[in-house]
Amino acid sequence: MHASFAHLLESAKESFSSGTLYVVATPIGNLNDISARALASFNQADIVCAEDTRVTGQMLSAYHIHAKRLVSLREHNERHMAEQVIRWLAEGKMVVQVSDAGTPAISDPGARLVEAVRAAGHPVCPLPGASAVITALSASGFTANSFLFHGFLPAKSGERRKTLLTWLNAPHLTVCYEAPHRIVDTLSDIVSELGPERRVMLARELTKTFETFRSLPANELLAWVSADSNQQRGEIVLIIDAAPARDGDDDSLPEHTLRILKLLAAELPTKQAASLTASITGANRKQLYELALQQKQGTGSAD
Ligand code: SAM
Repeated sequence: MHASFAHLLESAKESFSSGTLYVVATPIGNLNDISARALASFNQADIVCAEDTRVTGQMLSAYHIHAKRLVSLREHNERHMAEQVIRWLAEGKMVVQVSDAGTPAISDPGARLVEAVRAAGHPVCPLPGASAVITALSASGFTANSFLFHGFLPAKSGERRKTLLTWLNAPHLTVCYEAPHRIVDTLSDIVSELGPERRVMLARELTKTFETFRSLPANELLAWVSADSNQQRGEIVLIIDAAPARDGDDDSLPEHTLRILKLLAAELPTKQAASLTASITGANRKQLYELALQQKQGTGSAD
């Protein structure tokens, strides 16, 4: 075994439980992102269920690990394989599930398997690691506190536009996975549905040689990607910024923001309450201040 991976495997020193399904994340590009626990689980598993056995076989051989048994579990046979996995677990086998890359069940097979295994009363244990959504968000620099993960947008433009329109006034970031051959069409749908100024980040080829982050207003990002065919290759995550706060319109504020403002405004001067709420939630300070003033006037209290 490659010395560094052998050392990593050695460092895990973990005995896994029999009769348990382990859901194991794998790297999304850079093989060094594997965890010691993941390596140890592959080494000890009686069965490794993989989306594509060739892809996982290649990954395991890069770590110089030979799985005892490698079987295919993909979307089209997931229900059937779940029954088989339950039988193995009942026999006391240790089973690992992986997808081609990243975290299983995140725009990948795995959720149905876990649902069935839990329903049959067997333990399920996650071994965390890379996922493109979290990797992209971690280095995005967007400051909104909440995000919606959508996964892949619909392939047809009409459906895609309908989906995009639901985020017109979204107070949260929205993260989508996108195929490279659809990136230009999707960006142009974002421009038409969410407006040319909505900020969007393209996060491409994460953890790989051509890793790229680019955050621009949607129309500028569309022009930049259209002008460079290299940006239309590889694996892509899109992060759509939250809609800009609308002045004086408390309907655009999420419930939890209003609750925080109310609690702080009851204890602090209005300005300070608005300012703190803005720092906590990312909402517009001026809008919060006006709203807190209206609320205080309504209740007859003063600073
Ligand atoms: N389960 C995976 C995860 O946890 O991220 C996602 C699997 S999904 C079938 C594959 C999509 O994830 C790609 O089309 C791309 O949108 C995104 N993705 C995966 N790896 C990526 C990477 N290295 N850079 C950017 N996006 C990536």
